[in-house]
Parts: sequence; C-alpha cells; structure tokens
Amino acid sequence: MVYQTSPSVRVLKSRGHSTTFNLRNLEHDWYPVWNEVFIDIKSLLSNVYIYPQYFLWLRDSKDLPPALRQKMLEHLDPNEHGVTRDLDDADRALLPLLADFEDSDVSRLLSSSNPVDGDTSFGSAITVTGSEKDLKPDFSFMHLTSALLGEARANSAYATNRANYKILHECHFAICEVKGAPSRHLSNSVEELHNAFYIAQNDLGMYANMYFLAGGGLQRDELLLWACVGAHWTWTFVSREEVPAWDWVTGSFASGSDIQMFRRRFSRVFELCTPESDQEINHLITHYFQPDQIHEQAR
Ligand SMILES: [Zn+2]
Repeated sequence: MVYQTSPSVRVLKSRGHSTTFNLRNLEHDWYPVWNEVFIDIKSLLSNVYIYPQYFLWLRDSKDLPPALRQKMLEHLDPNEHGVTRDLDDADRALLPLLADFEDSDVSRLLSSSNPVDGDTSFGSAITVTGSEKDLKPDFSFMHLTSALLGEARANSAYATNRANYKILHECHFAICEVKGAPSRHLSNSVEELHNAFYIAQNDLGMYANMYFLAGGGLQRDELLLWACVGAHWTWTFVSREEVPAWDWVTGSFASGSDIQMFRRRFSRVFELCTPESDQEINHLITHYFQPDQIHEQAR
C-alpha cells in the first residue's frame, strides 16, 4: 500500500496550469485533478468511497440554534415555508432511512400523509433549499460497510435494486474543499495562495459546524479537513470542540480566540506530484484512512 502520483494526476495537473486548456484559470479545472487523486487513494483502501459534491444536510431541525434556523428559513421558497409538502425525488433520494428499512417500511414512510416537518420545512428529510451551494463540500470520503443480501431476496426486484448488497453503515470522515490556483502572475501568487487557503479554511470551518450539527449518518466527533488551492493542499484533523463556532447569520466565524488556532492547524502546505506530497498522502492513508482508524477515538 503505497500511494504514488499517477501519470493521470500529472497530466491533469499540467492541464490545470495550462493557459491554453484552462484559459480562464477556473476552480472547476482542478476538480478532475483532485478527483483522480482521491480515486487513486480510494483504490488503496477498503470500504472507502469518494463522494463528490457531498450534501451536508439536516435530518432534524429541532435542536438547531435559533440563528441557524433563521438563516435556513431565509433561503427557503416562501411558498414552501411552513407548509407541509409532498416528498419530491430529491427527498426520496436523501431519505436516510431507506438503506436500513425493508420495502414495506419505505412504502409506509413515503405514503405517510405528513412526511416532512411542516414547522421548519427544512427539517426531517428535506434538503436545505437555496443554501445548497454553501453546504456542498467538493468531496467527501465516505466509509460504507455492507453485506450480501440473503438467499431469500435472490432474484427479486429488491435485490436488483440493491445490486445484491445491503448497506449496514455509512459515515463521512474527511471533507475536502477545492479552490482554483492563484493567477499565473508569479509575483502575486504567494499572497493569492494564502488568500485562497484562508477562504477554503472558512468554508471548511462552516462545513465542520454543519457536519457536527447535522448528524446525517455521521455520529462522529472527529473530522479530517482537506483544503486544496490548485495543486497545493493542506489538511488538519479536528474534534468537535476544536472547530470555532460559525455564525450563520453573518456568514463568518463567531468571534473568539479559537479562530486563529484553527487557522494555524493548516500550517503545512504540499504541492501535488512532489515526493513530499506523496509521502504526506501516504501518511494520511496509513494513519487516518484505515477502517479501524476511521472509528478510533484516541490517537
Ligand atoms: Zn464509518
């Protein structure tokens, strides 16, 4: 198990920096690069999957801080606010219970006359309408465990639907945010790199706040945060207590001394396709991404 930059990653990195093929220096042109890196990492691990555009969402709004609740409501379609509505396809796709229930239970849930928390609209199973953009980290590392369906299910539509597997567990243990590379004017690039990482840290801090609130199958008190700016990257591992509180009304960290401490955690920066970067990715694979470490409490 040794991670080494693949030729595909090198090609995509070169393309990301190309003034011909990435004419506008877009953030989006770095997604293929990181997608390739993460798939290479995943290939060295068991029960780990890459989830692009991971949707952080709330299962239950009842325990939300009032400010967050208010912020969410601001984004909602007024027609839907406070009104119970039928589940749409997106809701069905997100219903967390589907994986753990038999078909009859799912039918019962979906046909229920009041399936969505009408008081909050964004509650139980609904997506966070309008805030989606801000609540979708570019990538998540997902841990899944599964079992083969028993003989009793063989040859049924259910079995085909599930590709003969039953999912037993899901959690997300690392969240990644990708920003575009600094402009090609080298004189500005150090400052721009710093600024882009600053913004990525804000996003990751916000995501981490939501992650620890959402409990969307997570039930974890730790999270690995991975920030990418072009081909540069940095990471940190945080517990719930180490993430400064996010103010959902102002869209920034709430004031407090822990913000600087949080930023300082991202002190080491690597560049893809260098020996140092490969070595660090190997470190993550070896010390954080093994199944027994994903759930290890003390490190
Ligand atoms: Zn897990």
